Amino acid sequence: CGVFGIFANTQAAAITALGLHALQHRGQEAAGIVSFDGNRFHLQHTMGLVGDHFSSEAVIAKLKGGQAIGHVRYATTGDTTIRNVQPLYADFEFGGFALAHNGNLTNAQTLRRQLVRRGCLFQSTTDTEVIVHLMAIARGGSPVDRLIEAVRQVEGAFSLVALTSDAVIGVRDPLGVRPLVLGKLGDTHILTSETCALDIVGADFIRDVEPGEMVVLDKDGVHSMRPFQPQNRRFCIFEYIYFARPDSVMEGTSVYQARQRIGRELAREAGVPADVVVPVPDSGVPAALGYAMEAGVPFDLGIIRNHYVGRTFIEPTDQIRHLGVKLKHNANRAMIEGKRVVLVDDSIVRGTTSKKIVEMVRAAGAAEVHMRISSPPTSHPCFYGIDTPEQSKLLAHRLSVDEMRDFIKADSLAFISLDGLYRAMGEPKRDPSNIRYCDACFTGDYPIALTDNLDSPPVE
Ligand code: 5GP
Ligand code: SF4
Ligand code: MG
Repeated sequence: CGVFGIFANTQAAAITALGLHALQHRGQEAAGIVSFDGNRFHLQHTMGLVGDHFSSEAVIAKLKGGQAIGHVRYATTGDTTIRNVQPLYADFEFGGFALAHNGNLTNAQTLRRQLVRRGCLFQSTTDTEVIVHLMAIARGGSPVDRLIEAVRQVEGAFSLVALTSDAVIGVRDPLGVRPLVLGKLGDTHILTSETCALDIVGADFIRDVEPGEMVVLDKDGVHSMRPFQPQNRRFCIFEYIYFARPDSVMEGTSVYQARQRIGRELAREAGVPADVVVPVPDSGVPAALGYAMEAGVPFDLGIIRNHYVGRTFIEPTDQIRHLGVKLKHNANRAMIEGKRVVLVDDSIVRGTTSKKIVEMVRAAGAAEVHMRISSPPTSHPCFYGIDTPEQSKLLAHRLSVDEMRDFIKADSLAFISLDGLYRAMGEPKRDPSNIRYCDACFTGDYPIALTDNLDSPPVE
């Protein structure tokens, strides 16, 4: 998911809509904005893309007021219904309150059972709603005190942006698994998931919100608080590999440059004689460029992506599926025929993409097809906000690298090593006594307790 919040700007809703548009890659399922005009809160929620609803002047005009928060959703818990679209909104005795969450809580079901027993009536099936109920039963008086009391009880990954009648509040979980940054546009401040959402509205980046930090934007400016016990940071390394937009800067590192360095490292670790390096677009592009530069092999767009494949496109029916419909990618024969091809992609999850692409590149006349992956094998599911399938569906859980190579029918297959990945991130290796990132989907080393899953631990 992606979040955005702005305090004290006459164009608050329009700026939030633009910010959400820049964060669209973080969730395409649904979007929402809540604003406050000094008197009333205004809510707009939609299924589908930001631009399909929030590019309308009439919709923005309804979102009156100088402060707003917004959310783009990519479901990791809860069904795909309008009830689950964020920001969530609730009326408290102190007034209205809206909440947008990126991440995933790992004790939400446990807390929810306790809250339901106490009589709380849940409106949605998202994990985020437990925070609202924890605030409702909190002893503290002010919204900030209640929010602090609530977030101290949840476990998991969360970057939150909240809206009250007099503030916009940002919170990052103590390990800082998901990103959150602070920016400035003229005299007004912005809290959002990625710097690309600051760029789109011409705002300046100030700094990352620190792991475990709460930032309150109100009429007196920016206030910083530390509601949690300090812990070692564990930022999601997969944000660098795949999830974030390449033009964003996270924790001081350009996502694009990180991907290029991973590609270079991959070429050093697992180079192979070849005539051309071809990315699987779009996510494989920066790593493929790094690989090509390091290996001294030409880079070419040997696969072309159709950018108009969205959720609205009907899945092909059985009658035409046998034609081998290539909705998303097509081989660019002129760049491939007769060549030894290195394909670079960011990850293999179920293996469907790699299998299709290898077949396509062979059918376009490649002499050899070598697959290189800019992440270690994805062997474990993510419980912290990235939507991976259950473990049994992960190809790397079921098969060895050699078996995976045979499954995708490549001449060779290699993944970057875990140490190679850490080297690309500027460390000598993955130091088990001081691990800087969350890398659980590659290692099974889950840094936050999986309280809801204790009955069926995902780690073998
Ligand atoms: P597979 O086809 O192996 O299941 O998935 C691998 C492909 O999905 C890669 O091309 C990668 O870029 C993309 N991918 C990896 N993680 C995610 C994710 O969390 N969401 C989506 N939509 N795509 C992903
Ligand atoms: Fe990121 Fe993987 Fe950790 Fe999930 S498990 S937070 S995707 S590194
Ligand atoms: Mg991809």
